Amino acid sequence: MTEKLSHTPGAAPSRGPRRLIFETGAPESRCVMPPALDVPDVDLGAALGGAVRVEPPVIPHVTEVEIARHYAHLASMNFGVDSGSYPLGSCTMKYNPRVNEDLARLEGFAGLHPYQPEATVQGALELMVGLADALAEVSGLPAVTLQPAAGAHGELTALMCFRAYHRDRGDVRKRVIIPDTAHGTNPATVAMCGYEVTTVPSDERGGVDLDALNSVLGTDVAAVMLTNPNTLGLFDENILEITAAAHGAGALAYCDGANLNAIMGISRPGDMGFDALHVNLHKTFSTPHGGGGPGAGPVCVVSRLAPYLPGPIPHRRTDGSYGLALPERSIGRVRSFYGNFGVLVKAYAYVRALGGEGLREVSEQAVLSANYLKERLRDTYELAYDRTCMHEFVLSGSRQKREHGVRTLDIAKRLLDHGFHPPTVYFPLIVEEALMIEPTETESLEELDRFADAMIAIAEEAKRDPELVKGAPYTTPVRRLDEAGAARNPDLRYRTEG
Ligand SMILES: *Cc1c(COP(=O)(O)O)cnc(C)c1O
Repeated sequence: MTEKLSHTPGAAPSRGPRRLIFETGAPESRCVMPPALDVPDVDLGAALGGAVRVEPPVIPHVTEVEIARHYAHLASMNFGVDSGSYPLGSCTMKYNPRVNEDLARLEGFAGLHPYQPEATVQGALELMVGLADALAEVSGLPAVTLQPAAGAHGELTALMCFRAYHRDRGDVRKRVIIPDTAHGTNPATVAMCGYEVTTVPSDERGGVDLDALNSVLGTDVAAVMLTNPNTLGLFDENILEITAAAHGAGALAYCDGANLNAIMGISRPGDMGFDALHVNLHKTFSTPHGGGGPGAGPVCVVSRLAPYLPGPIPHRRTDGSYGLALPERSIGRVRSFYGNFGVLVKAYAYVRALGGEGLREVSEQAVLSANYLKERLRDTYELAYDRTCMHEFVLSGSRQKREHGVRTLDIAKRLLDHGFHPPTVYFPLIVEEALMIEPTETESLEELDRFADAMIAIAEEAKRDPELVKGAPYTTPVRRLDEAGAARNPDLRYRTEG
């Protein structure tokens, strides 16, 4: 390890990009051997009336071993939770048991067709009812839709239910209140739903400023939307006052449940006074994410909102069989069929394998890991809020910036050379030079120590040789990228010569 870290600026990267697949191989190379033709030969050109291309397509001609190496190399350029710890705050990049992938792939699940008659999919319906029951139990909110495909989609679904609920009561409301620590999807959801965003500041303990909240609440507020524990990793000490204040103004209280990994079996959003919550199955319940999906963002609500949920919703009939029904005042479908069923299978398997006690241990361990790391790093980096944290915590790199001109971005890039995925940086927005760290329950004590050692070593490097940190990373396939350029002017096409 030390050897690798002695890389100096300009040293050759160890795993550089290599030739594209189009530049590999030779015209005569093949990686398939089709069986001999056993049907009459047809002249395609003539059969299609000449409507065929005259130039052969530019496709790679490679052997099987070349293609195997090509993909193995691409995989080795990637960083995933299988390669090392991934303490990306708010995202809960924990390790997901492989067995749940196997279960989701069982022919009896993966081979189902959504148009199959109900009588032939009783097991699938039972599984969905079982998962909904478990989520209702964990959240303390009795009615559940499994349809939404992601967290942000769950937020939108819940706000659409809120709007329908207010409209049914002849109540016109136009604003949604969000704290300044909110995840970016919250204000985006509010805007998509046609509401205006009102932001409330946080107090010095990192919670919602109650006085500020009361001063912006009014009869035109449709909802108060917040995350608890919030994105600072802090449990709001005034949560009951906050939800009561919302209800006092006739508004509903929404909980962004992406941080459920911190509280399972310990406290329930329903008991905190929330009317609705989305759950990121792809954070807490065993679906890997970061690769673009699929995920699932089920929504749990109080009984008075149940009639508005999207459907159809699987339920158990009195005769013990399972069926599907559309709630009475449903906002309609938000996703084709029943949502991302494979993700639901994984979540159900995870819940059944761990049980209530196991889920509680997940959260306890996640919180313990975060507090352990926070204590190990508090003397090296500034701690944004000096409180017991939940499953994540926020450090600030402002000392390193002030004293050595090394920014949080530099620290994040240098962590790559130490073999770690960086934490979330520059979020939440209210913390200067923020580093938001979520170790998760699946990292061992040894791994937590390795991460803490790396963070401390980088702080030392910042002191001794700031240029080293500012030039990082040195050991990755590519060095610093023009991230804005890559997003604004993406060059995604491979141009063949001529
Ligand atoms: C991840 C996250 C979301 C959004 O979830 P997606 O599934 O990515 O849409 C919302 N809020 C918080 C706090 C999150 O961490």
